[in-house]
This record gives sequence, C-alpha cells and structure tokens, in this order.
Amino acid sequence: IIDLGKTYQSAGRILTVLDQINFSITKGSTNAIVGPSGSGKTTLLGLCAGLDRSSSGIVELNGINLGNLSEDQRAQVRNQYIGFIFQNFQLLPTLTALENVMVPLELRGEKNIKARAMDLLDKVGLADRSHHYPAQLSGGEQQRVSLARAFSNSPSILFADEPTGNLDAETSEKVVKLIFDLNKEAGTTLVLVTHDLELAAKTQRIIRIKGGKLVADEKTING
Ligand code: ATP
Repeated sequence: IIDLGKTYQSAGRILTVLDQINFSITKGSTNAIVGPSGSGKTTLLGLCAGLDRSSSGIVELNGINLGNLSEDQRAQVRNQYIGFIFQNFQLLPTLTALENVMVPLELRGEKNIKARAMDLLDKVGLADRSHHYPAQLSGGEQQRVSLARAFSNSPSILFADEPTGNLDAETSEKVVKLIFDLNKEAGTTLVLVTHDLELAAKTQRIIRIKGGKLVADEKTING
C-alpha cells in the first residue's frame, strides 16, 4: 500500500476518509487493523481487497497494481487470491447456506462444487444447516457460512471485517480458531479489522488508524 488515499464527495464537500496510508503486508503473516469507529478501517480493507478503487496511491497484490485493472479484472484477482468476510456477512438471502458457498466455486468454473461446498460447511460445523436460508440461521451460523464461502477459493490472503462482531464468546472463539487454523495450515495471510483488542493481540502486528491516518504500526509479542 503506497500513499493510499480515499475521498468521497458528499453534499458538495470533499470528505477525506483515508490520507497517505503506507504499509506492506508480508506473505503468511497475521495482522490486525484497529481504530475508532469511522476512522476508515472498512474503507481501507475494501481498497486492499480490490472491492473499491482508491482516489490516490497504489494497492499492489503479488506484484499486480489493482488500480490499473478493470472491474472484471479486479474480480478475477479477488477470485484467485482473496477471501473476504464482511461485517454484515452479505449472504445472498434467496440462496441456501450450501448455495451461498457454491457461488464462488461456480464462478471459478470448478467441478464437484456441491460436494466441495458441503465439505466447507462441514469444516465450519454447519453440515446439518446446509439447506437453511440465511434468515433461518443465527448470526453466528451466518458468520460461519460466510467463512466457508471466504475459504472456498483457498485464498492466499483473507480479509475479515469485524469477524467476531456481534458473536457470543463461545461462537467467537470457534470463528477465531477457524481463521487462525487457515493461517497455520495453509499459510493464508490474515488481515483482520477488529474492535476486539484480545483478538488483535493474537496477531503478529497491529496497525492503528485514526481519522483516516495511520498513527501506529507495531509488532505484538507474536510478531
Ligand atoms: P466502524 O468501526 O464504525 O465500522 P470504520 O473505521 O470501518 O468504522 P469506515 O466504514 O471505513 O469506518 O468509514 C470511514 C468514514 O467514511 C466514515 O466517516 C463514513 O461515514 C465515511 N464513508 C464511508 N463510506 C462512504 C460513502 N460511500 N460516502 C461517503 N462517506 C462514506
């Protein structure tokens, strides 16, 4: 990330949400982005993951400058390298848990997608909820479906926006274990946005954002 900036036009005024952010994330590392509400964390995560375009600066992933890509090309990069867990899950309401997990596999043109999606749901402990629609699942269950979906392309890098937000302690522990297992077992790079300082302390590095600026970038005891 080089000199990254994001502005929005709002009611005729320019709102600077991110200003001159610089950092680089090492392959296989675990990282937390923390900061007050409204400081720009979700915006930053979306730019890093190629979900949105920056107003200035560069986002480079595996040597690919995301700013030079078309919308379709960015989608391809996301399918190939990136897993994303959204703050509010973003499951498709008209599809079952199983179908939600099948979507990215289908987009990638993979084979045996139903069996693979079932395996992924099994991994997050939801095989018996595969035919439930999102509205028929608890918040924690929806979050685990979104994890299964994010894991489906065996991402090189997983971005998670408040992965434990709104979950009870027990479910939160399960979700955190699944995410960190991915790092341990597959070497997946983790970038987590969180208000949970206990979770942040489990990563190797904490990047602190305030008012759209990077104000601290420190290794934890794991780093
Ligand atoms: P939280 O911890 O509450 O989720 P955050 O640090 O993730 O907050 P962002 O969601 O990145 O913060 O938002 C940063 C700022 O950008 C906020 O002030 C928000 O109102 C503003 N913002 C976000 N999206 C837009 C948009 N599409 N248009 C205008 N302003 C926006």
